[in-house]
Amino acid sequence: MIYDVIIIGAGPAGLSAGIYAARSRLNTLIIEKGVDGGQIATTADVENYPASIPNETGPSLVARMVEQALNFGAKKVSDEVVEVDFSHKIKLVKGKNAEYKSKTVIIATGAVPRLIGCPGERELTGRGVSYCATCDGPFFQDLEVYVVGGGDAAVEEAIYLTKFAKKVTIIHRRDELRAAKSIQEKAFANPKIDFIWDSVVTEIKGENMLQSFVIKNLKTNEEREIFPDEEDGAFGLFVYIGNIPSTNIFKDIIQMDRGYIITNDKMETNIPGVYAAGDNRVKTLRQVVTAAADGAIAAVQAEKYIEENF
Ligand code: NAP
Repeated sequence: MIYDVIIIGAGPAGLSAGIYAARSRLNTLIIEKGVDGGQIATTADVENYPASIPNETGPSLVARMVEQALNFGAKKVSDEVVEVDFSHKIKLVKGKNAEYKSKTVIIATGAVPRLIGCPGERELTGRGVSYCATCDGPFFQDLEVYVVGGGDAAVEEAIYLTKFAKKVTIIHRRDELRAAKSIQEKAFANPKIDFIWDSVVTEIKGENMLQSFVIKNLKTNEEREIFPDEEDGAFGLFVYIGNIPSTNIFKDIIQMDRGYIITNDKMETNIPGVYAAGDNRVKTLRQVVTAAADGAIAAVQAEKYIEENF
């Protein structure tokens, strides 16, 4: 079986590509290794996607996108792509479970959260250290939580965490947030949110559960250890310090800049018939709306490529 389009990744870019490709009657396969939606699946509030409904969450938006793509006839499988061979006209996509062939491929693999990279982080992930407020926020009902980062994600998720936590402290490495002004204003106005400026987390400690962590003030070099409130005995550390593109398997095959895939404005990569869409490519704005736009463009270009080459 040779597909017209294989889309790797079922985030907004991949699902949008799936909607456009399947609607054009292309034989379309979407391959997703984990949970549909990619990073937006772990986002509590989506209030800036055009026509998002009141109280729109990442999962609710994604569920409608998936339904739309499947209704147009796209197929979706759960598999992890581990290798690709783009050296022939028919492209080969190797998953852990099966091999797939296609006339075109749209790489919509997105990005994953960047880790702090300090001692203790990996060991205590899921044990008090989290990268997903939507998933883990409810565990911290009436406890304190700390959020690392100063971008849109850190500040928005800090606001979301105030629904559960008794206090949320944002730890940022500078004395000024990177987040959009409108998001900053909400955070500054929220009485449950506090800030620790000019500081980074240098060590995370705990036996089985997060027990304390060390922060360092980058201006004074002073280090101090932060513990939970004595009465609580537990607290949470949420990390939102940006993302890393999921493009490792395309290294040496697709042209990239610091791990981000280089495309032109038609989403074409250096290989004819292979496109990239969404957060994994070099671009200026990484949002659901721009990911969806990339996906649409890539699918339309794939259709043109097939018309001209097959
Ligand atoms: P981001 O915009 O890249 O911000 C990353 C933040 O983490 C920055 O404040 C950065 O500090 C800090 N940081 C980076 N490396 C660090 C390290 N090693 N240690 C400590 N701090 C570190 O990432 P993001 O907030 O995840 O957002 C990613 C993209 O998604 C952005 O384009 C963003 O606009 C978009 N997004 C949009 C929305 C929305 O519009 N509703 C929501 C979420 C995300 P510096 O500021 O000092 O560089």
